[in-house]
Amino acid sequence: MMLELLHEPKMADLTSLGIGGTARALAKVRDEAGLEELSIFHEKEAVGLIAIGEGSNMLAADGKLNYAFVNVDLANKVAPEFSEDDTRDITVRVSADTRLPGLLAFLIRNGLSGMEGLAGIPGSVGGSIAMNAGSYGTDIAASITKARLWTPSKGLFWMNVDEMDFGYRHFSAGTDEFTLVWEAEFKFNRSTEDEVKKNVQDVFAKKKSSQPVLEKTAGCVFKNPEGHSAGKLLDDAGFKGKTIGGMAFSEMHANFLVNKGSGTGAEALELLDMATEAVLKKFGVTLESEVIILQ
Ligand SMILES: Cc1cc2nc3c(=O)[nH]c(=O)nc-3n(C[C@H](O)[C@H](O)[C@H](O)COP(=O)(O)OP(=O)(O)OC[C@H]3O[C@@H](n4cnc5c(N)ncnc54)[C@H](O)[C@@H]3O)c2cc1C
Repeated sequence: MMLELLHEPKMADLTSLGIGGTARALAKVRDEAGLEELSIFHEKEAVGLIAIGEGSNMLAADGKLNYAFVNVDLANKVAPEFSEDDTRDITVRVSADTRLPGLLAFLIRNGLSGMEGLAGIPGSVGGSIAMNAGSYGTDIAASITKARLWTPSKGLFWMNVDEMDFGYRHFSAGTDEFTLVWEAEFKFNRSTEDEVKKNVQDVFAKKKSSQPVLEKTAGCVFKNPEGHSAGKLLDDAGFKGKTIGGMAFSEMHANFLVNKGSGTGAEALELLDMATEAVLKKFGVTLESEVIILQ
């Protein structure tokens, strides 16, 4: 088991947008021993080697892409584990392949508060740390205390939050080599099951009423430029509902690119280029993509 290799995986199967061509390879790390084999895989595939979680923040172009992926996908899933001391904070240790909705379900059951604002984000814990995923006034950085990382030269090691650099959709561990998030520890406040559940439900209901959360998307395509809302800029530039082939900017929220079912990478990239150019021309604002573009 350990390291499972797939040749030429389809990007449409690996990403929530469901578009794009094929990558060179995908290595699934099924247990800690698989990290030994990952070193060998890294030696062979170092060029364009990228970690991938749920692929919910990735946009892949068509054709043969010169990327290889590493995915943490433990054969024996590890449930979040919590420890408490006599302080108010409760520490929860979570594997990188745990999906945020699963972590939130655990937090609800145990009445632990602090991450409710992340309700509705479909990514993995690893990907969410790498993106510093956030919404509704909070982000992953607000709860993380440390992460266990893997690099080819150091293997597995723990890093405390004060050694990491988090910003708006930005994370860096300061390593200048391929870095995989293996697991992490978060701190939460004690609350009640009912209270945490209500907060999560409120956030999800707000998102469901304003974002196409049940369609094939990758969340927000562009970051909000300083002092602006990317969605409003796109809307004002006439891109809400703008469609090319099978891809469109959502009618519900202009900053969400939606695959209507038969979209392609080329159509997605054309829409992004058109929107970036139009917003720059009309408002003098440069949009920066939040979604990771693989081309
Ligand atoms: C419906 C919908 C709603 C969304 N809402 C939000 C939102 O409100 N806020 C928000 O911030 N995002 C949102 N997103 C985007 C996305 O879900 C988040 O960015 C999420 O955190 C990405 O996690 P992932 O596992 O899918 O990462 P991926 O898309 O697989 O990867 C994203 C980045 O993380 C890196 N990465 C992935 N796994 C690891 C790992 N184990 N170790 C190191 N690096 C890794 C990748 O290399 C890549 O750079 C939304 C997406 C969808 C589809």
